[in-house]
Amino acid sequence: MSGRFLRRAGAPEIVRKLCTKAVLEYNLIDDGDRILIAASGGKDSTVMAWALAGIRPAIKKNYELAALHISSDFCSCCKKSILAGQLAGWNIPFTDLFVPVIGRLKEGRKMNCYWCSTQRRTELLKYAVEQGFNKIALGHHLDDIIETFFMNLCARGELSAMPIRLSYRKYPVELIRPLAYLEEQQIVSCATEQDILKAVCTCPFGINSKRRDARKKIAAFTGGSGAVKRRILRALAAGDLLVSGHQ
Ligand code: SF4
Repeated sequence: MSGRFLRRAGAPEIVRKLCTKAVLEYNLIDDGDRILIAASGGKDSTVMAWALAGIRPAIKKNYELAALHISSDFCSCCKKSILAGQLAGWNIPFTDLFVPVIGRLKEGRKMNCYWCSTQRRTELLKYAVEQGFNKIALGHHLDDIIETFFMNLCARGELSAMPIRLSYRKYPVELIRPLAYLEEQQIVSCATEQDILKAVCTCPFGINSKRRDARKKIAAFTGGSGAVKRRILRALAAGDLLVSGHQ
């Protein structure tokens, strides 16, 4: 058949294909894994849940999926029932865990994203260990990974990135990032085509100007080209920055 009659893959197909590629290349999933999805209700983690539920035949592994949403005393996904319903449609059980993030602040301390995400991450890890999960899947994508790398480089003078696979010394779980090969725009298109929940964070503390600034600079630097972003990811992989032994 002539090339001009070949069908172009749609966004859902691209998401499943690139998710499968990341899972296979980084050995993210094994038979018997119990994987806890960190489900914020946003497009990234919800598309990831959809993809992980759908790629079983492609990766030929038997694994269990469940989702945990963390609510707090100042911010929560207002569309939790829609999220729970979509996850149920993909056979993924949903749990909502309340963490009083502000309530844990010491007197005189101000609320900030670093404190909040540390509290949430600790609770996520504790929950996973207590419930016998051996992996936690996070919905960070290619743009997040590149932004974090440049932010660490420019702000801290460090060569470090968000690993695609990370294990802990302290906890018997691994973090995995199956969306690492996907650009944010591909995830947005998939969510739109599949009618997947795209709840937007309404957190009153959520104006992360440093990340927004980094995003703009990277867009100018890469010209928004997916090929350039993937080359950067390849360089990070060659520098051994995408798999981390212990933390
Ligand atoms: S944006 Fe809000 S919910 Fe997200 S880490 Fe920052 S403080 Fe926490």
